[in-house]
Amino acid sequence: MTITKSMIHDALRTVAGPDGESNLTDLGMVSNVAIKDDRVYLSIDVPADKAARLEPLRRAAEEAVAGLDGVAAATAVLTAEAKEGRATNGSAATAPTEAAPSGIPGLPGVRHIIAVASGKGGVGKSTTAVNIALGLQALGLKVGMFDADIYGPSQPRLLGLSGEMPSATEDQQKLIPLKAYGLAVMSMGFLVDEAMPIVWRGPMVVQALNQMLFDVAWNHDGDLDVLVIDMPPGTGDVQLTMAQQVPLTGAVIVSTPQDLALIDARKGLNMFRKVDVPVLGLVENMSYFIAPDNGKRWDIFGHGGAEKEAEKLGLAFLGGIPLHMDIRALSDEGKPITASQPESKEAEIYRELAAKVWEAVQDSKGVEVPVMKVSQGRDSLRIAFKDGYSYDLPAEMLRVLSPSAEVQGHSAEQRVTVPGKRNVKIKELKPVGKYAAKIVFDDGHDTGLYSWSYLLELGKEKDARWQGYLEDLAAKGLGRG
Ligand code: ADP
Repeated sequence: MTITKSMIHDALRTVAGPDGESNLTDLGMVSNVAIKDDRVYLSIDVPADKAARLEPLRRAAEEAVAGLDGVAAATAVLTAEAKEGRATNGSAATAPTEAAPSGIPGLPGVRHIIAVASGKGGVGKSTTAVNIALGLQALGLKVGMFDADIYGPSQPRLLGLSGEMPSATEDQQKLIPLKAYGLAVMSMGFLVDEAMPIVWRGPMVVQALNQMLFDVAWNHDGDLDVLVIDMPPGTGDVQLTMAQQVPLTGAVIVSTPQDLALIDARKGLNMFRKVDVPVLGLVENMSYFIAPDNGKRWDIFGHGGAEKEAEKLGLAFLGGIPLHMDIRALSDEGKPITASQPESKEAEIYRELAAKVWEAVQDSKGVEVPVMKVSQGRDSLRIAFKDGYSYDLPAEMLRVLSPSAEVQGHSAEQRVTVPGKRNVKIKELKPVGKYAAKIVFDDGHDTGLYSWSYLLELGKEKDARWQGYLEDLAAKGLGRG
């Protein structure tokens, strides 16, 4: 049977709206319906302040549509419409952990995931990301591109894929990434209208992105050596939660040479360091200007500033990319320069950049996987590292010093001192990729991603950390329960 939009709208009449009186369709909450073969995607507009509580509604909508004859699978995401155009960072986001799913294992069929991030929008992050991806491919690697820039997904346009839709695998379980210039590509832009301004709130973004990332058969054409993620710009809770939840090998930070952008880049760096994701290095975009008529180089912002800054921050400088007409013009045409003009100087610069990124990936060996065992009473974790260090970390300590966004906050002022966890128990360990584990506690907390290096640090500084926690408790008049 051919599925039509009106059949979907009818099905959504069976799902009560949040007012408890009418239904999703009649309330006009269903904004986007896309049908691809027997798979349906839809977005439901919800009031931003209620988003976190409406996860059951999202699921009910999915079930109602998936129940239709001829529909193999349905994906619904919650959105809130923008009042003031496009959001350029995650500052409007609400707390990220409210509705964030947990227990995400590594991506099957993907060896490395590299995030390309920027402290703010407009610095050329997406352009750099796609050209790095193509540069990695030029090194002989198999590469994917995941566009997570939900505020303005530009990869469909950059790769000439606007208006295309991914199809599903035979078993209908996954989406097959689209192909462009040899890259396996997936973007939220394939599912929602690029021109429609949407403000995605924290919990929705994380849920939608995770769903999308893990719903894709990245290895449809064979395993990927590397998946490049074009991150949402900025350093808000959305970015922090993504950095925390996706098993990243490392991150590349893109900045422009002006001071202001570098301050933003520093924020980006701190964000990744906070969640223990190795920062592979800094890229300076629009580093200098090449005049299109005579090819003369102009160092508009001076020379070497970003490199010095990177050094100060203890960060590798991966290189500078010129501001060049062709980079912009070819991007607009959906023909990234590294693929469409591989013999150009700019393509060579991107390839060199990609080679440095790949080198940094090879070098970023984290702490080796430790042996972990929860005690019989589930009140402590024994962790033994390969180099001979071993520690017993109490469940209470792990819980109250969880590296989750809700415990660590975004800044010192936002840090939460968690009281009353004297008797908390460890319910489950869930390894994530090759660098961390999630710990599920019996009070329901499960959003902390404990990297091996964080656990090693906790072990080494056990007494001092614990003392610091007790002092925080006392200062706030709280107790261990
Ligand atoms: P972001 O992802 O940071 O928002 P984009 O990659 O969309 O930024 O780039 C913003 C604009 O700048 C686009 O029009 C793009 O073509 C242009 N641009 C990016 N990098 C360069 C460059 N090195 N030279 C010329 N134009 C560039």
